[in-house]
Amino acid sequence: MITRIIDEKSVRRLKELIDDSEKILIISHTAPDGDAIGSSLAAMHVLMSIGKDARVLVPDQPLANLRNLPGAKEITDACRYPDFAAKLFDESDLVLCLDFNEPKRVDRVAPLLESCKAPKVLIDHHLHPSDFAEVSISHPEMSSTCYLLFRVLCRLELFNFIDKNAAECLLAGIMTDTGNFSYNCSDPELYIVVSELLKKGADRDRLYSRLFNTFSANCLRLNSYALLNKMELFESKGAALITLSREELNRFHYSKGDTEGLVNRPLSIPGIRYSAFLREESDFVKVSMRSVGDFPVNLLCSEHFGGGGHLNAAGGEFAGTLDEAAELFRSLVDENYSKYIANSNNTKGKK
Ligand code: 5GP
Ligand code: MN
Repeated sequence: MITRIIDEKSVRRLKELIDDSEKILIISHTAPDGDAIGSSLAAMHVLMSIGKDARVLVPDQPLANLRNLPGAKEITDACRYPDFAAKLFDESDLVLCLDFNEPKRVDRVAPLLESCKAPKVLIDHHLHPSDFAEVSISHPEMSSTCYLLFRVLCRLELFNFIDKNAAECLLAGIMTDTGNFSYNCSDPELYIVVSELLKKGADRDRLYSRLFNTFSANCLRLNSYALLNKMELFESKGAALITLSREELNRFHYSKGDTEGLVNRPLSIPGIRYSAFLREESDFVKVSMRSVGDFPVNLLCSEHFGGGGHLNAAGGEFAGTLDEAAELFRSLVDENYSKYIANSNNTKGKK
């Protein structure tokens, strides 16, 4: 039905590890998004239905729009329950690491992960996985960990254990990591997987409404303000920048998740090839970047903004003021243009 992409040795070893385990801990990255939560909960549902004691632990609370996914109430947030997080690690026979490529991405959970004696398995689609897991199923060509996890579950012969709840969680991650099927989703096999998830009862329309179309009035106003008053365009250089200070965020009663997706908006302008959003936090500046075509925002983030990520979606934590981060971005616009845009033949994404 779908191409085999995962190597047989990893599948066999993962199967043994699951068979030999009773308590399985599933963890994902900080500021967990739809793919992190979707893949973790889907794994939890499937493992529970084969009789395992499976728990999900994340470094901090998921966004409000993810808290209605089936099983989300069972998630432990290490920020609020650090002692329980440590107990979960102590007791686990196996740790599944989903949707992140290196211990640093689990933030406050990293020391627990690194000192944990249980075998670790990584299932992820980010570039450059670090070598911390006994089994590493890393496929950056997959648009989401949920898409990859579906394939892993099939190879483990667990397809029949993907129930409606697991299917809904997997579809949530596929939808969020592709911007509701608007990027990274030209792989025809993705739609075979989506079709299977729909057949299992996942409700795409309800997920769309919850994940993409539920906003508070403050959130709508903050995003409108950002686009109207704070978007800087460097049109001849293909760049866009939005910054929001603490004062501005407070003015609109910002709550976590309110600026999700804002960084993508300038990319809808013809000729804009990459976009940055800088949000002032209490002790650093949260950087988010997106691009179209072959513009490598991951390099920009890793070289200058304390982070990394994918070619077209990256981020970081800048150790400096908001003005410094913005000034640095502006100072790189000319250089980025000569380096990545001027001679690029890649017109994909150019509108
Ligand atoms: P977002 O802009 O949604 O926060 O992040 C987009 C992508 O950028 C993430 O999926 C992740 O791959 C990467 N990313 C975001 N923040 C960081 C960071 O602080 N460090 C690193 N290495 N990657 C990040
Ligand atoms: Mn992901």
